[in-house]
Amino acid sequence: MTKKNISILGSTGSIGTQTLDILSRNQEQFRVFAISGNRNWRLLAEQAARFLPEFIVITHADHYDELKRAVSDLPVKVLSGKEGILEVTVHPDVDIVLNSLVGFSGFIPTYEALRHGKRVALANKESLVVGGELIRKVVGSHDGQLVPVDSEHSAILQSITGEPHKAIRKLILTASGGPFRELSRDAMKKVTVEQALNHPNWNMGAKITIDSATMMNKGLEVIEAYWLFNVPLENIETVIHPQSIIHSMVEFVDGSTKAQMGPPDMRVPIQYALTYPDRIDADVPLIDWRKMQRLTFEPVDNGRFPCLNLARYALKQGGVAPAVLNAANEVAVDRFLKREIMYIQIPGIVESCLESLVTPGDVSADLLCDIDAETRKKARQLN
Ligand code: MG
Repeated sequence: MTKKNISILGSTGSIGTQTLDILSRNQEQFRVFAISGNRNWRLLAEQAARFLPEFIVITHADHYDELKRAVSDLPVKVLSGKEGILEVTVHPDVDIVLNSLVGFSGFIPTYEALRHGKRVALANKESLVVGGELIRKVVGSHDGQLVPVDSEHSAILQSITGEPHKAIRKLILTASGGPFRELSRDAMKKVTVEQALNHPNWNMGAKITIDSATMMNKGLEVIEAYWLFNVPLENIETVIHPQSIIHSMVEFVDGSTKAQMGPPDMRVPIQYALTYPDRIDADVPLIDWRKMQRLTFEPVDNGRFPCLNLARYALKQGGVAPAVLNAANEVAVDRFLKREIMYIQIPGIVESCLESLVTPGDVSADLLCDIDAETRKKARQLN
């Protein structure tokens, strides 16, 4: 069997390190072709020594020299910046691009990888939120393949595999509800960064953890599901399921519902995105169903979690609106993490940007980059 060459964009983050963990146990099937990090050059150097990839990319050019020195005795090429990311994304030897970059920076790599006929294992949902329309077009017209890593979308993919598209009635995305599921609106005014970073079920990076606390994450996932699975927005529902055992469900026209269940461990969907449609052994903790007390469900309270409806609104507006939503949210989350604004101000900043910056027109990659920059500028000034 020929080994599949994998470029991991964002190998020092939570998804990236878990991907390397999977690859280390499946070296007869996969080869680490390239790894990339933003600033963490020490970890990149360690990963390079362990996996001996062809390329290492450091996005922040400031750390290029340090990284280069740290790997001087290894047979690896060191690249930097967005150009470096692009080079290891479209390189002819690459089979799979695992995109776990954070935020808008992941969009162009996703787009270019698909244009060059790669499989994209997508852990950067913002790619689809921002440029879903362009990405769907490029998937339809090139040989590239888009396979989600997001646990909900992996669950949906696993549930619809083998089913005709016309048999799907509804997608039901489950949400843990995050750390503030039971918090009153009043109490939300006093939420600290530490409380918001303390997710009950999943251990993830800071940006997505805050998005889970505001439930913007579920809003972004509704948009992601819309572009991935081509189901009308009104047929994409969300439900709170605090145990995070059912990762999502699909209701079919005959009234049957399929759910995918498993431990809340991202290595399962990461691995499935790499091996799809096959399954291989995984070294993850298994569920003891005899000890499973109950699986519960409740509706989302849109009054306390307005971000979910903002995302649906942006998708309905179409055009650049989801890109505005995404950029405003990225800045608002960053400012909350820096303690410049309060937790409850996040949706307000997103809403103001949606109201003032969305203009109709055809979407292009250049326009998305411009509107992203413009929205960031505005979101940094709002209070
Ligand atoms: Mg998810």
